[in-house]
Amino acid sequence: MDRTFVAVKPDGVGRGLVGEVIGRLERKGLRLVGLKMMRVSEELAGRHYEAHREKPFFGGLVRFITSGPIVAMVWEGQDAVAIARTVMGATDPAKAAPGTLRGDFAMQIAANIVHGSDGPEAAEREIDLFFRPDELVGQPRPEEEWIYAGN
Ligand code: UDP
Ligand code: MG
Repeated sequence: MDRTFVAVKPDGVGRGLVGEVIGRLERKGLRLVGLKMMRVSEELAGRHYEAHREKPFFGGLVRFITSGPIVAMVWEGQDAVAIARTVMGATDPAKAAPGTLRGDFAMQIAANIVHGSDGPEAAEREIDLFFRPDELVGQPRPEEEWIYAGN
């Protein structure tokens, strides 16, 4: 099974969309294995968004992600990284398809309500940044017999 890191950003928390994000990922078939509400320090924000350090939007991005609580999560499942990104939709809400979280609930790229790792290596790195191993406690869902064909 693969794991991915997902976070409801401060705008998603502030707008009461935590349940919506969790519900959609849960109903899709992913398994929730870690969850916490927290404030992101500037240092953690910088490490999390390391790849964007030289981008013009980096300062605003760090200010935004540290501006209020987030809900950090780890989700597990076959191809979890790509599955979660599809449920989230395109980075820019103007381009995100309806039926996706960003397509249905967001207006601006800088306030796009969720984060999701963009590949397996990023997922591993981000899970390590936000969770200790003993905070991850997943177990199979009984209905996985039906979520996966098993062949
Ligand atoms: N972002 C932004 N302006 C941009 C591009 C990105 O404010 O021009 C923000 C946006 O909130 C995005 C985050 O920076 O979610 C990280 O960018 P990335 O390209 O990694 O998008 P994501 O992986 O979140 O879809
Ligand atoms: Mg990204």
